[in-house]
Amino acid sequence: MPMAKQEAAPDAVARAVEALTDALGSDAVLTARGDLDEFRDPFWVLGSADHDVSAAVLPGSVAEIQAVVRIANEHRVPLWTVSTGRNYGYGGAAPRVPGSILVNLSRMNRVLEINSELGYAVVEPGVRWFDLCAALEEAGGDWWTSIPDLGWGSVVGNSLEYGRGHTRFGSHAANICGMEVVLPSGELMRTGMGAMSGNRAWHAYPFSYGPSVDGLFMQSSLGIVTQIGWRLMPRPEKYASCWLHFDGDEIIAPVIDAMRQLMLDETINNYPFLGRGVAANAEGQPDLDPDSQKWALRFALYGYAEVVEAKWRIVERVLGSVPGVTIGRKVYDGTDRVGPDRGIHDDRVQAGIPGMELLDLYKVPFGPDTGHLDFSPVGPLVGSEVLKMVRMVRGMYEEFGEPYAAGLMLLPNSIIVVSVMFFDPKDEAKTRAIYDNYDPMLAVMAKEGYGLYRTNIYKMDAVAETFDFNGHALRRFLETLKDAIDPNGVLQPGKQGIWPKVMREWRDS
Ligand code: ADP
Repeated sequence: MPMAKQEAAPDAVARAVEALTDALGSDAVLTARGDLDEFRDPFWVLGSADHDVSAAVLPGSVAEIQAVVRIANEHRVPLWTVSTGRNYGYGGAAPRVPGSILVNLSRMNRVLEINSELGYAVVEPGVRWFDLCAALEEAGGDWWTSIPDLGWGSVVGNSLEYGRGHTRFGSHAANICGMEVVLPSGELMRTGMGAMSGNRAWHAYPFSYGPSVDGLFMQSSLGIVTQIGWRLMPRPEKYASCWLHFDGDEIIAPVIDAMRQLMLDETINNYPFLGRGVAANAEGQPDLDPDSQKWALRFALYGYAEVVEAKWRIVERVLGSVPGVTIGRKVYDGTDRVGPDRGIHDDRVQAGIPGMELLDLYKVPFGPDTGHLDFSPVGPLVGSEVLKMVRMVRGMYEEFGEPYAAGLMLLPNSIIVVSVMFFDPKDEAKTRAIYDNYDPMLAVMAKEGYGLYRTNIYKMDAVAETFDFNGHALRRFLETLKDAIDPNGVLQPGKQGIWPKVMREWRDS
């Protein structure tokens, strides 16, 4: 029986730590408070131990991960897996169940293969965006990878969380082709064509014989992913980094409708970003200005010189005719990697060049400790609906007395309307108040039919509650699977609101 308090049992953890140290060696197991500090959620109340892990283990191989899982089962202790633990804004490396043992996979950081014929890489969980880009450059630079805004996180962690990038292949979960997974039993499994020993198309053909299960390991507590195949983008001959600016919210509607047309017909085939409250300053660098009414859309065109030129003329015709907008572009050669001295963040990120510049930007409001909470409902890519979503969320920010900073991520026919509240984690009351703001926003958006694509460890149950069709049929299905394959509930209990039977009483009501 679980303890009433939502926490890993300290005596069981102590026994597991001893066994882990015996199995992996003492340098693979961290227990000193000072060593564990870096795994705290930096955006929770500074100095609070509410969500700390009790220990961290750093396996260096699949066999060591299997040993960790077996030990966790033996001692009935919950594990919380991260690849690099940079999931900032969603909890960082902090676990859903306090006192869990962190499994940090950053030591497993090999790029196992770059297939420059078929355009994929095979990476271990500790491979960061910086590492993959460096490996691609070293391999001749013929292939680009999509990246998120910060380069320090991992390909695996970000993609499993449905993280997003900004090139043609910016839907990161969709780039995964073939996984290797340690199951909660400790058994090793390969998905898709990889289920056949020696299969030649494992990382090229995306489906299984029978049901495809890769999605079961995304935002999931059903396994520890040890490697993935990852789709790459051929280096284009030309790349145009484009922008569109307008003032005031009303123009969102016609811009979104025009973008939908251009994205569905593949004139624009990257994943554009529409931001507000983050504007260009006098030096052309992004700056935080939440009072501004200015919106800035960025998008990209890739391909042969003639194609990029022709696409730009179509963009001018369709987007340029929307009243009140200004548009522009910079054109680069594909070989012309946009370095830190050339171009702004937007130019680099759409060319898959990783950096850390946005981290500095996000420190502007309250200095180095600045925290932020992201609210990210998904909607259809229809101008009137997007404008409605923006107005609804923004109205709530106004009620809370918070400035509205937003970053909308466009997919060809849907959109994630992300907004961000900044706070100072040194201010406990304010930090808690910011997290409390989330609940009414969640309720209002769910009532209108808008669900969240991702959330942080504090709101996982609340968000799961909103996916309520037929008495939470999907959650019941996933918990049936959870109980069958992880009867002791050792992997990521509570992740995304999925609780193993032995801990189900811990679900936030
Ligand atoms: P980042 O790449 O941003 O550092 P994290 O490593 O923090 O991302 O991972 C984000 C989330 O993804 C984790 O909290 C965990 O739920 C899930 N995750 C990360 N790596 C794995 C993995 N190898 N297997 C299963 N789930 C993982």
